Amino acid sequence: MPTAAVATGPLARYWAKRDFAVTSEPRGETAPPGEALSFVIQKHAASRLHYDFRLELDGVLISWAVPKGPSYDPADKRMAIHVEDHPLSYGTFEGTIPPKQYGAGTVIVWDNGTWEPVGDPNEGITKGKLVFRMHGQKMAGLWELVKIAKGGEKQEPWILFKKRDEFARPKAEYDVVRALPDSVIAKPLPTRAPRTTTALKSAAPVVKKASKRASSRADSIVPGAVQAPLPDKLTPQLATLATGVPLTGTWLYEIKFDGYRIMARIDKGKATLVTRGGHDWSAKMPGLVKELEQLGLQSAWLDGEIVVLGDNGAPDFNALQKSFDHRTSSAGIVYFLFDVPFFGGYDLRNVELVHRRQVLRTLLEDKGTEHVRFSADFEADPASILTSAGTCQ
Ligand code: MN
Repeated sequence: MPTAAVATGPLARYWAKRDFAVTSEPRGETAPPGEALSFVIQKHAASRLHYDFRLELDGVLISWAVPKGPSYDPADKRMAIHVEDHPLSYGTFEGTIPPKQYGAGTVIVWDNGTWEPVGDPNEGITKGKLVFRMHGQKMAGLWELVKIAKGGEKQEPWILFKKRDEFARPKAEYDVVRALPDSVIAKPLPTRAPRTTTALKSAAPVVKKASKRASSRADSIVPGAVQAPLPDKLTPQLATLATGVPLTGTWLYEIKFDGYRIMARIDKGKATLVTRGGHDWSAKMPGLVKELEQLGLQSAWLDGEIVVLGDNGAPDFNALQKSFDHRTSSAGIVYFLFDVPFFGGYDLRNVELVHRRQVLRTLLEDKGTEHVRFSADFEADPASILTSAGTCQ
């Protein structure tokens, strides 16, 4: 397209600010919407670090620049400057915008996923009050954007904040931009070429030795894995990071739900079962410890939930509680594993959940053992994980 052409439409301002002969940012076009509306949050180290918060609507990304980024604390009102719409193809852009170009600096995709407006989103944007639900890798639950002043049509100040729901957390407890600073876009392992089989093998040499079964179908890539010693403890907050979802403390899992959240630490082949509160429950469930050790893993943290399945096949919380009254009856407990934050000398917490679960599935040979099972109920999207955890029976 000749640069002299007069650009019109929602992306006109976006195009006008950029020289696409120089920057590697996409020119883009308005696009028909997909089935779900996408969002992206880009962390942009320009002259001042900020987070570009972009929601797909009507074929473009409606955009705000949020200097401090999002906060899960509803009391934190974050300034969000309404900026020009961006093309949908901008949603996967990562790279360095050259010096002297508009927005010069590096851009990473800090989070992405889908969003759902509550009410009519066009009306919300016009009126300056947009409530929406996010289904990202880091962002979840209900959020709100409110216009706080009319600033002409450019650079309108809005605020972004978390609505109160089960995802909200005080900032003192959890600061998502500090806890999860990195890109969500898969990167090759630093140590080896990202060729599928070798990648998992190089991430998990001990499994290869310990269990031929486990490595024989190791066909996942694990981009984002970093070498790290196995931590002695995973605190509830770290467990939270492990799933990439800001679960609040002990909510559904331990309070009103059907099971107990339990993490398993495996070190030199020996398994320990730990509650979210950090208590060692191995002695309460010797059968599970034994089955975990039979998986042949040398080093791992696994995350899951123990339940007792009732006659109808659904988790029965009363039966679970009773099984701790008499040690012998703990034999009926089933441990559903849904995550593997550490494995084989690697910290996997920055690996995309979908890839971690693929690793876990491989380790469990798809199904696991009689009492240690892969939880097929927990799908890759954090929101659906919570939905299935929170609502099944
Ligand atoms: Mn920016």
